[in-house]
Amino acid sequence: TPLDRIRNFSIIAHIDHGKSTLADRLIQRTGGLSEREMTAQVLDNMDIEKERGITIKAQTVRLDYKGHVLNLMDTPGHVDFAYEVSRSLAACEGALLVVDAAQGVEAQTLANVYQSIEHDHEIVPVINKIDLPAAEPDKVKAEIEDIIGLPADDAVLASAKSGIGIDEILDAIVARIPAPKGDVNAPLKAMLVDSWYDPYLGVVILIRVIDGSIKKGQQIKFMQEGSVHLVDRVGCFRPKIEQLADLGPGEIGFITAQIKEVAQTRVGDTITDAKRPAAEALPGFKEVQPVVFCGLFPVDANDFEKLRESISKLRLNDASFSFEMETSAALGFGFRCGFLGLLHLEIIQERLSREYDLDLITTAPSVVYRIHLTHSKTEPATTIELHNPADMPDPNRIESIEEPWIDATIYVPDEYLGSILKLCQDRRGIQKDLTYVGGRAQLRYELPLNEVVFDFYDRLKSISRGYASFDYHQIETREGDLVKMSILVNNEAVDALSMIVHRGTAEARGRGMCERLKDLIPRHLFKIPIQAAIGGKVIARETIAAMRKDVTAKCYGGDATRKRKLLDKQKEGKKRMREYGSVQIPQEAFIAALRMG
Ligand code: GDP
Ligand code: MG
Repeated sequence: TPLDRIRNFSIIAHIDHGKSTLADRLIQRTGGLSEREMTAQVLDNMDIEKERGITIKAQTVRLDYKGHVLNLMDTPGHVDFAYEVSRSLAACEGALLVVDAAQGVEAQTLANVYQSIEHDHEIVPVINKIDLPAAEPDKVKAEIEDIIGLPADDAVLASAKSGIGIDEILDAIVARIPAPKGDVNAPLKAMLVDSWYDPYLGVVILIRVIDGSIKKGQQIKFMQEGSVHLVDRVGCFRPKIEQLADLGPGEIGFITAQIKEVAQTRVGDTITDAKRPAAEALPGFKEVQPVVFCGLFPVDANDFEKLRESISKLRLNDASFSFEMETSAALGFGFRCGFLGLLHLEIIQERLSREYDLDLITTAPSVVYRIHLTHSKTEPATTIELHNPADMPDPNRIESIEEPWIDATIYVPDEYLGSILKLCQDRRGIQKDLTYVGGRAQLRYELPLNEVVFDFYDRLKSISRGYASFDYHQIETREGDLVKMSILVNNEAVDALSMIVHRGTAEARGRGMCERLKDLIPRHLFKIPIQAAIGGKVIARETIAAMRKDVTAKCYGGDATRKRKLLDKQKEGKKRMREYGSVQIPQEAFIAALRMG
């Protein structure tokens, strides 16, 4: 395809503003799918994505429109996948900015728009859902101009649901988004945008060709990874797979090269010709690192092998999470896993329980701490990275601890502002900016990531009745007054419940945990103290009173079957308990205690 006939664009939208619906409409209008095939949203092809309405893996579709090839790049819609988003955006020259005509501009939209602007994109605003009675397109236009600073005069008014404005959008893409540039005679240079495992094709690699061309039978080299492969398929999605003879400059499509694991295909890598390589790799390659860690343990210890297999399988298709074996006195054998963020953690956890039918206990999520250690008699001074509170070194050797900080943007209607400010303050936030736009406040805070992985998002949503939106990126690590808080049940520390907390918030966190455990752990024949402690110092305490001697006493010895049933029920319950300091702790108690941090 000649360069001037190509347009590459992505769609930026806040969750639920209509990105997937619009994408489906564009595909339908340009003939990719018939009405009958449009039953399900095409671009969201994983169950979890569909249920939550979020896009996790980028997909791309080639559309034919009035003699032009339009490549629609769907980008992941969540902050956890920021790097993948940045690579998808780097593969395009423009973007449709879809804003819900009734909801207006949201914080997450902003972050993506700014990224898009950074990539020099031509942005075409689309005001969607104008069919809604609550639609206020003029107000939204003003917001786009005031908040984002983009001219919105020629914003396209559309309803993806009713099919209004679809041709106008396609025409705007052709007229306003610039054609890509590139040199067909230069050595091959293509960006690896995304990859996934397909049971029939093996690893499928989504690429954007910058210079040169790529075809079947060609020997290619991944410049960052350093590996060489033989291309065995070249094609595109319409969204059905279509094989092509080659992909030239400016084009987006896929290749397969008999690659078995996605871990070998790193997003952002440069693909070049093995025999005639490009002089230098594309800029912007970044190694993605997990930022949130937690332990995953099977509820039933017999499921450990099954968990190992399932995690290994998931990892085949998602190289961005890490895992290694972990043992816990309380929870037995499991895995310490690293994720890009909390949503990523939830996705993996949910897939393990749904697709692999595993009951899991997840320990409290932890961020990565940098711990500076002084020298000891036997070891020199050093810095370590701590992923697991249970591995906290001897406090006497700790010189200082650094924790990761984020820059967060929160967008919230005025009426909830007070409570949100208090939440951020309670979480050690530093306010950077507060501006008002059309009855809503835009807040910028620097926050320790540690305080965010601990239920921040849930609190934000509940305080604002779901109206607040939240977006963040990591900025740096800063020294903090951090300590390991242990939870003791009947005077024994339960490793799975220990966490790293800021000294200033330790007491409140400890008290909360003790109170919850008091309700969650059943009574025993003896009194059970539950304590939160830092080092040897108890900072919070609750006591579970002793139970009356005989549970069956209340049966008055009369009804034998009823008595037996009660005993059986007790036995049944025991199987799902872990004994700790001679206290039986039900699995549910761990799950519930940890869920709330
Ligand atoms: P995404 O999260 O941005 O991909 O949003 P979806 O495309 O999944 O749409 C979210 C919800 O809005 C769905 O229930 C859609 O049916 C609905 N929706 C999308 N476009 C329109 C529209 O133009 N009008 C109305 N009334 N609803 C729409
Ligand atoms: Mg969607």
